[in-house]
Amino acid sequence: MKSLHLAKLSKLKCAKEVELPEIIENIKKILSRGSVEETIAVGHDKQTVVGNHPLFKALEWLGVTYVPISNNLPEKTYVPVENLGFFNKLKPSKYRVFKDTEELLYKNWPTPLVRLKNSSLQGRTVWAKLESYNPWSASIKDRIGWYMFKKLTEKLGNPPKLIYEATSTNTGLALAALSSIHGLKFRAYLPSTAAAGEALLKIYGAEVIVSPKPLTVDLIADVKSAADSDGAANLNQFENDANLEVHLKYTAKELELQIRKAGILPKAIIGGLGTSGHMSAIALYFKSRFNNVKIYGVVPRQGESIRGIRRVETGMKWIKYVELDGVIEVSLKEATKSAIEIANRDGILVGLSSGAVYHAYKAMVEAGQFSEGDYILIFPDTGFKYVENYQLRS
Ligand code: PLP
Repeated sequence: MKSLHLAKLSKLKCAKEVELPEIIENIKKILSRGSVEETIAVGHDKQTVVGNHPLFKALEWLGVTYVPISNNLPEKTYVPVENLGFFNKLKPSKYRVFKDTEELLYKNWPTPLVRLKNSSLQGRTVWAKLESYNPWSASIKDRIGWYMFKKLTEKLGNPPKLIYEATSTNTGLALAALSSIHGLKFRAYLPSTAAAGEALLKIYGAEVIVSPKPLTVDLIADVKSAADSDGAANLNQFENDANLEVHLKYTAKELELQIRKAGILPKAIIGGLGTSGHMSAIALYFKSRFNNVKIYGVVPRQGESIRGIRRVETGMKWIKYVELDGVIEVSLKEATKSAIEIANRDGILVGLSSGAVYHAYKAMVEAGQFSEGDYILIFPDTGFKYVENYQLRS
């Protein structure tokens, strides 16, 4: 047997573009086997990838530190992913001292996974992943804002000077914070249903345009053309694959380490669908790497609006590549009531889309669809942003 050569992934260059379905197929293969079974071929300079580009991209998306290489042609091999530094990037700062507010984001991960003992029903234990512990938007969207910005900056060689983005507030807050940190200008385009986000965005230094159109996806084309004519960068969270990638590399992988620590294997993971970035990555990861973890997406009922989530038929890029076990519909009233219930029972105030996720869990328990065991709910943000909604109903 040939000796195994490992190279640092960050030292390799892969100029060839690889289509998304091919990357996803390779990710599924790696995660379901838990190993890499072919090498990446490199040229004479030992740096340029010349063969097995899709495998290279998949490993890059999975955030490994090392990859197996061979000269000129791919070869058979066998390396467990753990030997490639699969978990190396997840090293939280022990004493929680951070060199700046950007490091405060990515060195603060994992976000907490907490058992909600009083919100758990009939032996179906709720574990909540609290994405409000991200520092800028107090939401899951800091992750994608940071990563889309980082990838664009790496591509350009410098940060862009001006950024335009359509947002239902949270991604906008993340990009406004990043723009302040790097001294750039940021303009957020809000749909009418998220007009309440204007004040917060302005406090963070963003210029805000509120559109009469109701959904963030309705604004994509307008924002693209405004950005083109003004020479602004448009990260476009709805179509930018960095959205899926960052949740695969960090959010999903964090969750694996956390369930190991908690000593549980969840029966199901439930989360809201907006761009579908976080739940598509979680579905891709957990369906490939574990047997029998069910994945459910949560959307507003027909005709209802819940900030951050929307109906599948409004168009979501990544959901078609992954397997979901069901999509659960929730009304604004149910989401609001459920968020207040969690505050009353477990002393944590979560956002409206988190309330929707908790309602979906309750509805499944009540319908006899969930057996006894552990259930993970992804809570995208905090309820402090929606206090007006909650006051009306408390
Ligand atoms: N919940 C809230 C509060 C959000 O802001 C978002 C996204 O904007 C989501 C849920 C949906 O997340 P994703 O875009 O990853 O599907």
